[in-house]
Amino acid sequence: MLDLAAGAMRHTRHGWWLEEAGPVEPFAPLSADISADVVVIGGGYAGLWTAWQVLQRAPQATVAVLEADVCGHGPSGRNGGFCQTLWGDLPALCERLGDAGALALCRASSASVEAIGDWCREEGVDAWFHRAGTLIASAAPAQDEVGRDAVAQAQRLGEAERLRALAPSEVAARCASPVLRGGVLVADDATVQPARLALGLRRRVAERGALVFEGSRVRRLRVEGPRSVVAETAGGRVRATAAVLAVNAAARGVRPLRARLSVTSSHIVLTEPVPDVLEDVGWTGGEAITDGRTFVHYTRTTPDGRIAFGWGGGQLAWGARLGGRVEVDRHVAAQTREHLLRTFPALAGRRVTHAWGGPIDVSPGHLPQIGSLPDGPVHYAFGFTGNGVGPCHLAGRVLASLALDARDADSRLPLVDRDALRVPPEPLAWAAGTLVRAAWLRKERLEEEGRRPDLATRVICAAPRAVGLHLAR
Ligand SMILES: Cc1cc2nc3c(=O)[nH]c(=O)nc-3n(C[C@H](O)[C@H](O)[C@H](O)COP(=O)(O)OP(=O)(O)OC[C@H]3O[C@@H](n4cnc5c(N)ncnc54)[C@H](O)[C@@H]3O)c2cc1C
Repeated sequence: MLDLAAGAMRHTRHGWWLEEAGPVEPFAPLSADISADVVVIGGGYAGLWTAWQVLQRAPQATVAVLEADVCGHGPSGRNGGFCQTLWGDLPALCERLGDAGALALCRASSASVEAIGDWCREEGVDAWFHRAGTLIASAAPAQDEVGRDAVAQAQRLGEAERLRALAPSEVAARCASPVLRGGVLVADDATVQPARLALGLRRRVAERGALVFEGSRVRRLRVEGPRSVVAETAGGRVRATAAVLAVNAAARGVRPLRARLSVTSSHIVLTEPVPDVLEDVGWTGGEAITDGRTFVHYTRTTPDGRIAFGWGGGQLAWGARLGGRVEVDRHVAAQTREHLLRTFPALAGRRVTHAWGGPIDVSPGHLPQIGSLPDGPVHYAFGFTGNGVGPCHLAGRVLASLALDARDADSRLPLVDRDALRVPPEPLAWAAGTLVRAAWLRKERLEEEGRRPDLATRVICAAPRAVGLHLAR
């Protein structure tokens, strides 16, 4: 049994990464009316990379960042730290964007992962950037084909080195677990300490001259003309020629965007340092590992030998309500802990020290949505669907291009203004989503137990795809 004695595990909103990265002194809130060239709303990776990119391209520009809380204390500072490319999504991308669009996007996503590593090195930000790839491994016979179509497509398109199929013995050589079978290695992917990256960006963006205001929730965004927009907080206003909305799941509360995403949650548990266990299972290469589920398990190690183990099986939020169980769900954390032990039985008797979670901005098309509102200079990025660490860098490049009105290769990427799929209004979205979630959890549990899901379960699981929604990779 894992040691779950009361008090043994700290279950918080913010989690271990932010604790490890150390405390920060918040920037003062906005308390006056000011002008800027670009106002960025939201200080997670998407907003901070945008601010960084704008200042790279236009060093004289005035950039204001308005953050409701403290930059990097949302999902950007608490995620699994899987800094991934889009190669694992290649088949779905080919289907939706054609070969050329899919290739352009996947290559750009690899360039972003590389650029994050370069940035950390050049800016002296030690975010534990480590490039050992993501191992997508089957955890049940029903998952055995996971990633195989991506390998085949990569071969067909002359990019064979990006994805490599691994036999069960090759997976076991990298990480021996009784549940992991064969898999695929996505070579370009990396891991980071997410909070160190987010807080490092926060620091460097401010040093570059961005005006960063924290405790500054934007309550209203008013378009005054084709090159004039005003963002209003309780303490003041920023008038700018362009605004960038980078508020992640809070986009569900923005009227023109609300039908374009739903919000669910993901939760992580973390062990005490267990370097001996890692040695025993042979997991010393630092690979990020996911299984082949739709409600995915994801796990990685830390330099001091801990295992972080996450599960994307959290509950759906009602509309734009982001607190409560979206952030702290003891039931889901307890289940995640059970799944951890099932994956690594050698952890019996070891302590799980931390648990945390946060919202996931789920795109009905499973792709980030980047674009501009039709009636003014307001640009947005959301819908990273639990995969924003690498892609937010790419989004930052695109958003900077849009905000600076630069018509370049970034603003022409096939992601831009692409996703036209819609989710139904509440209460239908919540009711249907909750039903589908329950069916998928049942299906994946039965498959892992070697049992065939019943017909009703299979029909409900197939329903989203039948209406054009992409739940999974
Ligand atoms: C538990 C968990 C694990 C995850 N694991 C991974 C992973 O391993 N790999 C991966 O790629 N992705 C992962 N993700 C997803 C990833 O964290 C996100 O895709 C990414 O951080 C999104 O960045 P962002 O800048 O869009 O959003 P955020 O980091 O959420 O930043 C948005 C900011 O906007 C602010 N804000 C909201 N409303 C307002 C307002 N009105 N005014 C001002 N500010 C506002 C918020 O306070 C927040 O700081 C995970 C997410 C969670 C929750």
